[in-house]
Amino acid sequence: MNSKPVRTKENFLIFGSPIIEQPEIDEVVKSMKSGWLGTGPKVAQFETDFKAYKGANYAAALNSCTASLHLSMLASDIGKGDEIITTPMTFCATVNAIIHCGATPVLADVDQRTMNIDPKCVEAKITPKTKAILPVHFAGRPCDMDALLNIAERHNLKIIEDCAHAIETTYNGKHAGTFGEFGCFSFYVTKNIVTGEGGMVLAKSEEAINRIKILGLHGMTKDAWKRFSDEGYKHYLVVTAGFKYNMMDIQAAIGIHQLKRIEVYWKRRQAIWQRYNEAFSNLPIGLPADTASNIRHAYHLYTISVDKDKAGISRDSFIDAVTAEGIGVGVHYLSIPEHPFYQKTFGWKPEDYPNAMRIGRQTVSLPISAKLTDSDIADVIKAIYKVVKSK
Ligand SMILES: *Cc1c(COP(=O)(O)O)cnc(C)c1O
Repeated sequence: MNSKPVRTKENFLIFGSPIIEQPEIDEVVKSMKSGWLGTGPKVAQFETDFKAYKGANYAAALNSCTASLHLSMLASDIGKGDEIITTPMTFCATVNAIIHCGATPVLADVDQRTMNIDPKCVEAKITPKTKAILPVHFAGRPCDMDALLNIAERHNLKIIEDCAHAIETTYNGKHAGTFGEFGCFSFYVTKNIVTGEGGMVLAKSEEAINRIKILGLHGMTKDAWKRFSDEGYKHYLVVTAGFKYNMMDIQAAIGIHQLKRIEVYWKRRQAIWQRYNEAFSNLPIGLPADTASNIRHAYHLYTISVDKDKAGISRDSFIDAVTAEGIGVGVHYLSIPEHPFYQKTFGWKPEDYPNAMRIGRQTVSLPISAKLTDSDIADVIKAIYKVVKSK
């Protein structure tokens, strides 16, 4: 046993650490000096830039992806008595947003290889109460959108896409988040580009985006944020009981510059992904599925699977051992039915979603931030080789 860790405690490699560069630092300082901290021209600019990047017509910046999901469902008139079908292989926010609308979440198991919601399982869960499908493009790999759109059309369902991992993702050349009625994005600190906290909704129609904007700012009539501007005082009118979900200019100041470098960061993560694939092809661990030529993967998470029978170490022991080597890793995710709240509330059992259960119990995400240097990547590989014996 080699007792000297690959990296010391002081030099611990933090999982999912973002890159912050000088242009966004300067832009935030400019916002602060201007005194305009809240929702204003920089938020409008970020929306315009994001629409241009995604080839979308309508966008609203909000303070999180969770808020984006919540408002997308409200703007779809989803509420009490409705069922929304989503995946057990997601972050809890996806399911909580459904619950906060008053609707009932229904889970459909994932495909073992892609880890994305399985259209066959979706179809089996449809009832007369089903209103929408909420697919998550897991790790940045697009879901089988042809099949999901086909199901949605036949059963008259809406599609709301959780694109928290999938800013750069395309499917048959079309951007993730532009298939459904709404596409919801996250700029949380661990995501592909960041604003600290932050989110964005893409919508198919002007009417839909206006509903989102009103719901996101107290239910006040559109452009209420302009009421203190030099265009003169404007009365606002409250037309619904809305939420406080608006993005600030300080956040947009970061996002505008991060978005300019999105493709540079994507290329870097792709290179890390390929480096890991080569390095680990020799080890008895499961590697991410290959990417088909009709898709563009966003390379948000590099998830391996550690099966004790093959790797000779359990997933949780693997995490402890790699962490002890000074490398931070993540789990994305324990399947949703593993959590006590959902078991208690909906009677869900992990065994009823066997693919998600297995993935959730065996998966580990390795660092793949564009911030990683070549020597960081070499350290990750070295640590994995210390913990798992070669075949
Ligand atoms: C991060 C994440 C969210 C929540 O995003 P926030 O911006 O933090 O609200 C939702 N769904 C998935 C799949 C995520 O990874």
